[in-house]
Amino acid sequence: MRQLLQSIAICCALPFIAAAPASASFNSFVDGVRSEAARAGVRKEILDRALHGISPDAEVLEKANRQSEFTLTVGQYLGKTVSDARVTMGREKYREYKRVLDAIEARFGVDGNVVLAVWGMESNYGDRLGEFNVIRSLATLAYQGRRRDFFRKELITALGILNRGHIAPERMNGSWAGAMGHTQFMPTSFRSYSADFDGDGRHDIWTNIPDALASTANYLKRHGWRHGETWGYEVRLPRNFNYRLEGRSHERTLAEWSRLGIARAGGGHFPRPSDTAWLELPGGANGPAFLMLPNFRVLLRYNNAVLYGLGVGHLADRIVGGGPLEHEFSPDERPLTGDQVVELQTRLARLGYDVGEADGKAGPQTMTAVRAYQQRAGLPADGFPSYTVLESLRAGR
Ligand code: CA
Repeated sequence: MRQLLQSIAICCALPFIAAAPASASFNSFVDGVRSEAARAGVRKEILDRALHGISPDAEVLEKANRQSEFTLTVGQYLGKTVSDARVTMGREKYREYKRVLDAIEARFGVDGNVVLAVWGMESNYGDRLGEFNVIRSLATLAYQGRRRDFFRKELITALGILNRGHIAPERMNGSWAGAMGHTQFMPTSFRSYSADFDGDGRHDIWTNIPDALASTANYLKRHGWRHGETWGYEVRLPRNFNYRLEGRSHERTLAEWSRLGIARAGGGHFPRPSDTAWLELPGGANGPAFLMLPNFRVLLRYNNAVLYGLGVGHLADRIVGGGPLEHEFSPDERPLTGDQVVELQTRLARLGYDVGEADGKAGPQTMTAVRAYQQRAGLPADGFPSYTVLESLRAGR
């Protein structure tokens, strides 16, 4: 669990961290962690087992050091995360876990296909749980780098989880950044949202699938999931649509969107026309358009990236028989890298557009500036920071 397009590679959005060596300094860091955890009530035997002989993990540092680069187009990202194979497996898992999912839905009020889709996105239904020892990963990241405080808190929390016996120290595995089990919870999320569904007293998101699925449902419920409602709809925009209406700050009711000429892709009506929604164009004017409902915000609480939420929502629809998107993403439209966004912002600022700080993040202010520039340059004014816009700026148009 780890913001707009730029965060597809959230895992890699950590600041640069210098190379490793374990040392007297690392050992004294571990001593400090040990004291802090002991003060928080973690038993000595747990600390001995979890921290004995620990050293920084060079592979974790290497992964943390990897600069975020966008090698996938938006369409490729979605094609990969909602592949036919993942849809098929999701349907199989739905049959296999139907009783558990129904019971979870009855208890938490979260739709089974959505819980399954999160499971599919997070760990490919348990195929990819991550094989890094979580304590070692977190200790490595808490020892070096600019987010030391964040990872130290996760580390102390993880030791507390061991202290309560939810999992043995040797089996507490996860991603290189410490996301754990089928649900890929960070320790602080585990502490707040994990659930015990089989009633054995342990919250085992590593090996007990009902516990893991219930934990995901609990997370979504606690962040406001509305039972029986969907996350959003793919929509068709009318000709000459005013792209200024895009974005989270332009919510209106589905009935109002209908009056503006927006219709559901594939036809059909909006079942709850008084619900509010906002318009999202994750691939710009040339890609598909979506109206996002309140439940979409809940999906973003799991991972604050629009494409992630779209992946979960679309996979959830496909699992219960929905078809592919009607409008495909443009195959050559890639999100800009952070450096390219900085260049775009700098060029726009030079032309007098207010982009705020050139920070490499295409936030609302940058999108507004892009939209104004597109209008002046005669491009579709979708505010999407695309290569087309950057190349137009470079060409001095
Ligand atoms: Ca359990």
